[in-house]
Amino acid sequence: MAFCRKCGIEIEDSAKFCPACGEPTHDDPFETAKNTAESKFNELNDTEDCTDKYEKSDIEDNKIISLFAYAGILILVPVIGAKGSPFAQFHIAQGINLIIAEVIIAAAIGVLSAIFSFSASLGAIISIISGVTELAILALIIIGVINCLNGRAKELPVIGKWKIIK
Ligand SMILES: [Zn+2]
Repeated sequence: MAFCRKCGIEIEDSAKFCPACGEPTHDDPFETAKNTAESKFNELNDTEDCTDKYEKSDIEDNKIISLFAYAGILILVPVIGAKGSPFAQFHIAQGINLIIAEVIIAAAIGVLSAIFSFSASLGAIISIISGVTELAILALIIIGVINCLNGRAKELPVIGKWKIIK
């Protein structure tokens, strides 16, 4: 016999859930991984939100054009088209950090590939690292776009704090 870890009643060994309180008897590894990933994401995305510093009308008028700040070279759209918008300037600064992060990662991957070109297995590891960093960049782009659509002036995880431009 086993005991429910929540309410303490005795339950069958084969039971997946406690019949009294419904507590699972074992952790579902998928569920555990999902919860860990979720809390890690929330921790990383718990960044400074300075939406209050911006005028509501500025946010409403410029949140769509600000989306382009996260679209690579199309960052020029708000740079040229939303000069007078502090809200757009906030997202442009975030977008520039993103471009710089992409350039640094591409350079680092290039250098590593050149150094380790003699080894196929190291090359494979570098490809994996490259794939993971591409996914991370994609995640940052999605977060930036969601912040814009929600009308938030919220920093991106990890790279949002970089103060490249004033
Ligand atoms: Zn129970």
